[in-house]
Amino acid sequence: MMSSSVVVPVIDVQSNNFKELWPAMVLSFKTSSFIALDTELSGLGARKALLAESIEDRYKAICHAARTRSVLSLGLACYKRLDGKTDTTYLVQVYNLTLLCAEEYVIEPQSVQFLVQHGFDFNKQYAQGVPYDKGNDKGGEPQGMTMRTLFVELLRANKPLVLHNGLIDLIFLYQSFYAHLPEKLGTFTADLSQMFPSGVYDTKYATEYQLRLTASYLEYAYKKCKLDNSRSVEAAQDGPHVFLEFCNYSGRLQSYVDYRPCFDSYGGEGPPNICPQFSAYGWCPTGSGCTMSHDTDLIIRQDEKSKEDKRKKRKRRKKKKAEKEKEDDEEDDGSPQGKKAHVEDEEKQEPEKEEKVHDEILMGETPAGESGGDPDKNGNDAPQTHDPTENERPDTRVKKAEGGTHRAGFDAFMTGYIFAFASIRNGDGSDPWIPSCANKLYLSGKSLPLHIAKSTFSKSSRAHVTKMEHIWRKRFPKEDESM
Ligand SMILES: [Zn+2]
Repeated sequence: MMSSSVVVPVIDVQSNNFKELWPAMVLSFKTSSFIALDTELSGLGARKALLAESIEDRYKAICHAARTRSVLSLGLACYKRLDGKTDTTYLVQVYNLTLLCAEEYVIEPQSVQFLVQHGFDFNKQYAQGVPYDKGNDKGGEPQGMTMRTLFVELLRANKPLVLHNGLIDLIFLYQSFYAHLPEKLGTFTADLSQMFPSGVYDTKYATEYQLRLTASYLEYAYKKCKLDNSRSVEAAQDGPHVFLEFCNYSGRLQSYVDYRPCFDSYGGEGPPNICPQFSAYGWCPTGSGCTMSHDTDLIIRQDEKSKEDKRKKRKRRKKKKAEKEKEDDEEDDGSPQGKKAHVEDEEKQEPEKEEKVHDEILMGETPAGESGGDPDKNGNDAPQTHDPTENERPDTRVKKAEGGTHRAGFDAFMTGYIFAFASIRNGDGSDPWIPSCANKLYLSGKSLPLHIAKSTFSKSSRAHVTKMEHIWRKRFPKEDESM
């Protein structure tokens, strides 16, 4: 089965067109139904601390990284639901902002190496990166067209924010464009709940707990959703499908657009030896030196096949069992109803769900743990990616071709697609999104998510309350005084 390849226009935003593109970006925020976001970072520091058992310790470690490292690029995908269509159709606008932190920051040598190998253009970043200052606003409220005021516009738009494994992104966003990070995690999540009242959604959480895919790294989840959607369209199945439209950019604007193809490789059976590590985690310690296949399309097909095999096996087993039970029933006056219920339970267990997911944690921790958090020893660790347990930017030949400087934009696009797909697959459609996943952030190695909420015991940070008053142009209750 073929699924259609898409070409995604990504608008390349840098310092020489930032102001020119400003009105278009702000309009995209305001008219969107939801906004997906992704970042590329200059590094994360020691992996082990980022995976600390205690979530409070993890928060501290990521805060340290956010204070000492920087955001190199920011991807924003604005999805606008189009009315009057029978299916769920979105108009999608994708921006990739190249940024330059105005303060000193750490960039790890391995990060540079990895980024250069994957086509990141440091000349362009230093020459054309949109400058930004970290921490609190300097000298009163932010004014003019800056990264910090663009972030204010993002908050003002008040749309659902969608990220893939978003905790690290959110901590970096807060420190880089908003305010100094609060000391306590509870304060941070309380602030977030007020910054994004329309909800924050984590598609990695949704992939594992709602879509229940075999693997949950970004490219896998995106391609699997796209494949299932196009199958459903081709089979003319009832029920909603996701369709995308893009703008036809013209004139000057067109010169800023990069058309980013996303090929599907569904030709032939391909090499049978799929790399088991890459298949499970979207990451392989051997990287480009790996002799086995890192092709996500092949991996998805293999997973589907093995799922089908397991299903058939279960069915056979079930049939055998039923036959045996029938014989038993004929002999003795047992309780067939009870047995039937038992068989049904077995069917509901869905045992094919995710041996992989649980192993991912072990796998992710091992390389960093063994090497004392030194990614050098892993050869191809990707320090700028935002998931310490998995490198979602594999070193395959395809990714090299697709890489370059627009990865944050394209990753944001993929994240938005997963969200759109998960939303139509969700329930009766009375709620447009995925209520069961609202304000829950995926935590590596934990079965429970991090909740974005203001608890009775958590206070808001002072810097945040001041920002809120500026953003909404009204007084905010000083929670930290009323407690
Ligand atoms: Zn491999």
